[in-house]
Amino acid sequence: MFVRQFYFSWSILFQFYSSFNIINARNIPNNKIRITREIKSPNDVTINDIIAYMQKYGHLEAAKQKDEAGGDAPIDQNTILKNGIKRLQKYMGIKQTGEPDKETKKAILLPRCGINQNTGNKWEDNKRNLTFAIYDFHPKLDKDLQRLAIRTAFNRWASVSTFKFHDVTEISDITPDIKVGFFSDCHGDKDCFDGELQVLAHGYYPEDGHLHFDLDENWAYPNSAAIRTDISTGKYIDLLEIATHEIGHILGVEHIPNTEAIMSPGYNPKNDSSGNYIVKKLHALDIEKVQELYGVGTEGSSRGPPILSNRKRRETTSSVS
Ligand SMILES: [Zn+2]
Ligand SMILES: [Zn+2]
Repeated sequence: MFVRQFYFSWSILFQFYSSFNIINARNIPNNKIRITREIKSPNDVTINDIIAYMQKYGHLEAAKQKDEAGGDAPIDQNTILKNGIKRLQKYMGIKQTGEPDKETKKAILLPRCGINQNTGNKWEDNKRNLTFAIYDFHPKLDKDLQRLAIRTAFNRWASVSTFKFHDVTEISDITPDIKVGFFSDCHGDKDCFDGELQVLAHGYYPEDGHLHFDLDENWAYPNSAAIRTDISTGKYIDLLEIATHEIGHILGVEHIPNTEAIMSPGYNPKNDSSGNYIVKKLHALDIEKVQELYGVGTEGSSRGPPILSNRKRRETTSSVS
């Protein structure tokens, strides 16, 4: 009943807008978002697309609640829509105009992280030595580069936090705290992937430990000038950046509404003034958040204790050796 009322009230809004030729009410998105590759430029984004995006990621629902200052909840649809757009803009770290402007249209076209909710969860105090294993490698990227990306991403967080991370990929008789893999579509947890672009990955909050990447993306490790150029033009997705972002969630760090932070929800590769791709690292805002949760760390390492030679080797899936 609630759902029906919700759609009914939004359909009135759609009709209101379509009467001004802004959108066509027959194209109401039915809570589905057009995938990014179907929309070629921000100019093609309709108010319909923005509403669907806000529905999916909860900005409209949030806009129906009391405002942040504790004032009365808005009741008219225009105010809810405007507040929803403002919330979306704040979340994406762009100017809060409340209007479906070009920056907002660009923001919803960005590929992004699949994590939406904030939890405030953290790892127990006795868990600062965490193990991880890569169970499912991507078939099209060299295995060593995948390992390098994941290990480097863990090292980045270890160097600014109280955590140490230990790669037990090769050891089959240890159940790791963090399970890493590439998956397509629905793959046994609550969040299905969606094909190329749009949602790229998800890393669940503590102490779940599932760190998943969308198998349908073209992943690369930014280890050469040619690859970095291909990342900056969108041919490849930067596995190192996305792994660093998702490990942030694994540790309990939420999204940060600032496009400079690696914990910004959108993925937006940028070049410097010479046109070279900027490999994004942890920003002061990211470091501040993990240190708020766990305190200031000393020099960290993902190498961990020596791996005993008589441990069983774990089988992993990949066509690339
Ligand atoms: Zn995220
Ligand atoms: Zn998953």
